[in-house]
This record gives sequence, C-alpha cells and structure tokens, in this order.
Amino acid sequence: MTTLSPCLKQATPVVVDHAIGSYIFGTDGEKYLDFTSGIGVTSTGHCHPRVVAAAREQAGKIIHAQFTTVMHTPLLDLTDKLGEVLPQGMDSVFYLNSGSEAVEAAIRQARMATGRPNIIAFHGGFHGRTVAAASLTTAGTKFRSGFSPIMGGVHISPFPYAFRYGWDEETAVTFALKELDYLLSTISSPADTAGFIIEPALGDGGYLPTPSAFLEGLRERATHHGIILILDEVQAGVGRTGKFWGHQYSTITPDILITAKGLASGFPLSAIAAPLGLMEKAWAGSQGGTYGGNAVSCAAAVATLDVVREENLVENARVRGLQLQAGLKRLAATRPMIGDVRGLGLMQGVEFVDADGDPNPEAAAAVQQAAIAQNLLLLTCGTRGNVVRVIPALIVSDQEIEQGLSAFEAALNASGA
Ligand code: PMP
Repeated sequence: MTTLSPCLKQATPVVVDHAIGSYIFGTDGEKYLDFTSGIGVTSTGHCHPRVVAAAREQAGKIIHAQFTTVMHTPLLDLTDKLGEVLPQGMDSVFYLNSGSEAVEAAIRQARMATGRPNIIAFHGGFHGRTVAAASLTTAGTKFRSGFSPIMGGVHISPFPYAFRYGWDEETAVTFALKELDYLLSTISSPADTAGFIIEPALGDGGYLPTPSAFLEGLRERATHHGIILILDEVQAGVGRTGKFWGHQYSTITPDILITAKGLASGFPLSAIAAPLGLMEKAWAGSQGGTYGGNAVSCAAAVATLDVVREENLVENARVRGLQLQAGLKRLAATRPMIGDVRGLGLMQGVEFVDADGDPNPEAAAAVQQAAIAQNLLLLTCGTRGNVVRVIPALIVSDQEIEQGLSAFEAALNASGA
C-alpha cells in the first residue's frame, strides 16, 4: 500500500468533499468554517462562481499555451489588469507558478541588474522552500536544517519585532536599522549588496506587520546605495491586508514586487513586477519556465481581479479585519496566555506566551487543534510556532467573523488557555 510521505505535516485530519465561499464540507459530513484559506490563497472564497466559470471556459479553449512559445489571451488580459493595480512605474511583469519560483526569479533579476552578489533578508522572513528561497528564510529551522549548503551570499539582519524584544515600535525600528547599517559597513558592503528582500507583514514568521518606518528606512538605504528593494507580497498582496498591496500602509515603492497566492484564487500562479528599465538588465531567455503563466491560471486571475474590484473586497478585508482584531483583543483581555494580537486586514496573529512571557507553542497548537472540534479551521505560525494565524477569505461576512470568534472562544476555553 502506498502512503503519503511523513515529511509532510498535516494541520487537520479533514478530507474535503467540496467547498464554497468561507466553508469546507468534509467527507466526514461536517461543515467547517475555513479561516486558513489554503494558507491565504482562496482570496475570493472557495469556488467563486466567476472564477470557476472563467477557468471552465478557458480549459475548453486551451489549457497549456507555453508562453515563451506562443502567447495567449488570458496572459495578455491579466497583464493589462495588473497594470491597473501595480504601483506606478512597475510597468513590466512576468509569470511563474509559485511564490518560491518568483522569489528565485527576483533574486536573479536583482543580481543581474546590479552585478552584485549579496542579498540581505530579515529575521523571521519566509520566502519559500527551494534552495535560494530557503536560504532567505529564517521563519524556523525546519525550513533550513539538514538542507545545507544552501545558497551563499545571503545575510540576515534583525526584524523590528517590538513585542518579542519588549520594546515600543520606534525603539525596535531604530535598533533594526542600526543593525542593518552595521551589516552594510562590516559584512556586506553596499558595493557587494544586490538586494534587500522583505515581506510587508511577516507571514509564516508570525503575522507581524512590518513597521512603515522600517520599510521607509530600507527604501532610503536602497535608493542611496543602488540596492534593489524586493517586496515579497506573496502572502500579504491582493487585498489581504486591507490595502491592495501590504506595503501601501507605508509611503514606499519597491523596485521589484512579487505576488502569488491570492492572485488566482487557488490556481497556481505567481508574478514578478518591476520597472522595464530594471527588467531589461536580465538577458532575454534568462527567465521563464514550462508552466509559468498557465492559461487557465491566468483566466482565473483575471476573474479574481474583477471580483476583488467589483465586490469591493479590499475594503471588505479592511473592515472585517478590524472586526476580527477587535474580537480577538476582547478574548485576549482576560487571558494572560495571549501576549499579543496584531495584524493588518484579514491577516491576524494571536501570539501565545507562558507565565514568564516566553513563547508558548504548546498553547497555540492546543487551540488550533481544539478549534477543529468547533468546526473552525486555523493554522499556527511564528518563528517559535506560538502564533495562531487567522486568515479568512476576503469575501468573509460580518456573521462569519462572529461565528469564527465564538468558535475561537470555545477552543480557548476547551484548551484551558
Ligand atoms: N513568500 C511568502 C511571503 C510566502 O508566504 C510563501 C508561502 N507561504 C512563499 C514566499 C513561498 O510560496 P510557495 O509556497 O508558493 O512557493
């Protein structure tokens, strides 16, 4: 008998029969409120009728039109649509399948554009599981251990994690920028540094919004030294944070923007965007891939962007996010085991601590597991695994947020938190 490899770890025992909107229907006959969204992917909810119709229609026309061989209409349409939402000046894009691939492509682009070798990433960042992406990832040793040697030329600088240091945000930002300057003056000189890569909010590293002042500090240094600022919007992009792009809480514009997950509502698709002048620095043919920009995925992405705009989903994420955060804070107020509730839009993290204020991964895991019995699906994250992340689909309703909060409360009570 063939079994699934134990190198995969499954967060719940649920086997899906079908899913619609915010709900998953299991083969066990149960209906689950899905506050995982397939790790932040099903932006328009499960099986949004317009996404399903677009994918069905496209599958009947052409499924695989390899885009470096023959061009296809969904990719051209998607490029036009992305042009409406990309930050000004980011007028050139290309497509791959996954977040990791897009991260790798962005690193290649930054190195070719600058002729420099090094990349600086930040503590707690998650950028993927392929060799280059894993080398930039410090969201937990499980992503790196036993996988060496990983890519060279990577340096990791502190992230302004105010709660963990017990500081206010300003102190944390000042510290992290000083450490970055120290790195640039002692280890990776600007002349050797091709790029900075950062998420607008740490995702797998703990659902921690990146302070605007930190992004602005990075922008200043990148511009001054000719370093490429890469924003990894794989998890935070496409409305999740209550702005279309997570970095739009700050005043900065990145040099390279990476998007994936929510872009095609569940079909595999990633994109990287940059000004044409930067894209031109990589040779024609240096980027690409067999399946990138798949026709059905692109058609689903066009429908996704239409739905996001027409159903006002970015605003819904903002408003429902405020409702969710207020509810979580209310639950935290009487529970010392919850050290922090934070997040942007529908990307909220609940950090569990022990009596000494140290990370408490056992409590986070117990709550996540207890939630399953309440028919609520959640995930954990965080560099120490002590954060429960709450990521409803962007279509989530007022009533579904309240239902989720009640189930969360019951899970907290059942697990003794
Ligand atoms: N970057 C970020 C910010 C992510 O959250 C992820 C996935 N969790 C990745 C990159 C990697 O994406 P993928 O799993 O599609 O390779």
